[in-house]
Amino acid sequence: MTTTYRDHPVSLSYGAVEPLAGMTDDEHAAVRARRARLDRTAEYLRGKTPAEALGVPDATLDQLQVMLWQPDTCGCKIALAHAPGVEPRGLRIERTCPAHAHLGTAEELHTALLAENRAKNAHVAAEAERLGVASDEIAWGLDAQRRPVTRG
Ligand SMILES: [Zn+2]
Repeated sequence: MTTTYRDHPVSLSYGAVEPLAGMTDDEHAAVRARRARLDRTAEYLRGKTPAEALGVPDATLDQLQVMLWQPDTCGCKIALAHAPGVEPRGLRIERTCPAHAHLGTAEELHTALLAENRAKNAHVAAEAERLGVASDEIAWGLDAQRRPVTRG
């Protein structure tokens, strides 16, 4: 697969990166991991610059860090990108669930997802403490107003 970055074609390959002479296994593994990360980031840009693709100010491929976040409170998926020391961070909607389809911007969606996820986490932690059990034993859900509730 090939994409472009700053008008240069970039070949995306997950194939072997040959070790250099004298390179240890750990060093070789680190190079392979870095290459795979660069490939994923380049693929993620879909031929656009970081500013065009993600709204982050221009950054090198190596600086750019992209994380996909899918909260456990709904089916939305959002991409968060940033380059260390560079503001602002970039957000891109990858998928919206029916409950959040009305939110128009990635910023609004991110804010809503964070609020729901934090409310759920606080609810689960409080219930676990109240019941004296581990938090993963709490069966939770969201009510019609998307507030966390305990099930069962
Ligand atoms: Zn959602």
